[in-house]
Amino acid sequence: MTELLPYSADLRGIDCHVHSRFSPDAKNAGADAPARIAQAVRDKGLRGFIVTDHIDVGHWREFDPIDFDEYFKTWNRVRADNPDLTIYIGLEVGFEMRTAEQSAELIKDLPLEYVINSAHYWAQGVRDIFSRGRLDAYSVYLDAVLASLDAPYPFTTIGHIGFPERYAPYDKSERAMAYELFKPKLDKIIKTAVSRNIRIEENTNAGGEMRLPRADFLQAYKAAGGARPVIGSDAHVSSSIGQYFDKAEKFLTDIFGE
Ligand SMILES: [Zn+2]
Ligand SMILES: [Zn+2]
Repeated sequence: MTELLPYSADLRGIDCHVHSRFSPDAKNAGADAPARIAQAVRDKGLRGFIVTDHIDVGHWREFDPIDFDEYFKTWNRVRADNPDLTIYIGLEVGFEMRTAEQSAELIKDLPLEYVINSAHYWAQGVRDIFSRGRLDAYSVYLDAVLASLDAPYPFTTIGHIGFPERYAPYDKSERAMAYELFKPKLDKIIKTAVSRNIRIEENTNAGGEMRLPRADFLQAYKAAGGARPVIGSDAHVSSSIGQYFDKAEKFLTDIFGE
C-alpha cells in the first residue's frame, strides 16, 4: 500500500532527492552501494535522506526494470542498519501524458513513502524546441508540468521546476525561466500546489546556482501561501549528496524565514 508522507512531515536536514544503483543513469555513473550512501549522508551531517530512484516508462529500455522486491528489501535493510538516520523510500516518476497510466499501474501497490513527479521528457526533439527560443521552449515544458499535476498516481512533490535550464543552450543572460515571463503558467502551478498540499523542492543539482526553482518563483509561491520547499541534491553518486545545502538553506531562509 502506498502511504505517502503527510504534508506536515518535517523534512528539514534531509536530502529529499537521492538516486542509487537502482537508477540506470546512476548505476552508469558509478553509484555507491546503498550502505555507503547512508554513510555518506551521515558524513555530510544530514539527518537522513529519501531514496528516489527513476521510473521513466518507455525510456532506459536497454536496462532491466527496477526489481521492486529487491528495492524495498535493500532500503528497508539500510533503514534497519542505520537507526540514527531518518530514511524514507520513494521514487522519482518521470511524467509523460502518453505513459502516465502505465506509470500509475506500475507503482500502484508499492509501499512508497515519497514520490517526486518530474517532467523529464517534456518534448519530442528537445534540441529543436530549444532552437525556437526560450519563450516557446519553456512554455512547452511548463505545459508538461501543468499536465503532471493531474497525474493518475499519487505524488508528494514537484521535481526541479525549471528543469530545462539545466540543459538549455542559451547564454546565461537568456536562460532564466523568469517568473514575469511565464507568470500565467507558473501561477497555475503555484495555485494548484498550494491548494493540493503538493510540495516544491529546491533542487541543488545546478552547479551551486539556486534556480530550480528560482527566487522570483519562490517569492510568488510564498505570497500565495506556499510553505518552505524541501531540498534535494539529485545526487547520482554519493559525493554529491547534500551538495550546496548550506547555500540552499540560506537561500530559502532569505525568502521563507526560519
Ligand atoms: Zn529528475
Ligand atoms: Zn533525480
